[in-house]
Amino acid sequence: QLIFINGEYVSKENAVVSVYDHGFLYGDGVFEGIRSYNGNVFRLKEHLVRLYDSAKSILLDVPYTTEEMTEIVLETLRKNNLSNAYLRLVVSRGIGNLSLDPFSCKRPNVIVIAESLSLFPKELYDSGLEIVTAASRRNRSDVLSPKVKSLNYLNNILVKIEAGLAGVPEALMLNDQGYVAEGSADNIFIIQNNRIITPPGYVGALEGITRNAIIELAREKGYSMEEAVFTQHDVYVADEVFLTGTAAEVIAVVKVDGRSIGTGKPGVITNELLKAFRDLVVDDGVK
Ligand code: PLP
Repeated sequence: QLIFINGEYVSKENAVVSVYDHGFLYGDGVFEGIRSYNGNVFRLKEHLVRLYDSAKSILLDVPYTTEEMTEIVLETLRKNNLSNAYLRLVVSRGIGNLSLDPFSCKRPNVIVIAESLSLFPKELYDSGLEIVTAASRRNRSDVLSPKVKSLNYLNNILVKIEAGLAGVPEALMLNDQGYVAEGSADNIFIIQNNRIITPPGYVGALEGITRNAIIELAREKGYSMEEAVFTQHDVYVADEVFLTGTAAEVIAVVKVDGRSIGTGKPGVITNELLKAFRDLVVDDGVK
């Protein structure tokens, strides 16, 4: 496996960064998770826009243009002979001194890792997930917008720990007002009487690239598709619930906090959208 670090491709064993990197010391940096299917990198442009916007928001200059970054991503796939892969892009503030001072960091570290990954086993796509609501809340008044995909994922990690402690693969995060925001690394959709609803970004959800693709597909199929706030109760009484994310793709949720959703099986519309998504990713991408 060859990993891109600052212009070089190095083996996994040699892919190391300094303990003085502020990404490590302070979570000072941004990242992206991207998928390629059959050699097509799904919505690479959108992922790069989000990466560069996240970096801009924290005053971090990515030392490559988006054209260069596109080539780096494609070259990393080629060097690893991967056509179906999960890619991780990381841009950290770089090596500085032990103080918090980001001005002590002279050059960002840029890393691209490509590997085969599947988040959930295939059976879970057939059976659907059981999830719980986490006690950890998404704070909307954080200075850092939830739109910034920063290396500070402690909130999300706590949510994942809560899921693990409850013995389920994922948990829901509410915002500080109690509205449903998202999962630890995925967006949520509910379906009620053929109306598909997902929380708007301002409740504290990341504007997922998969989420946006599903919104488009749902509208193309003629469904009523809205961005609206909703509560845990709305999730419990929904006909169908599903999560979306680069790693998760589209996956049904069949139980939330002990309440069976709909029939207790992945719903018809969820399966239709999963199929449409899988059809879309095969040839919608950058080669
Ligand atoms: N929400 C969070 C917090 C995430 O980290 C992710 C993963 O990137 C998502 C949602 C899903 O976004 P996407 O579909 O762009 O992967």
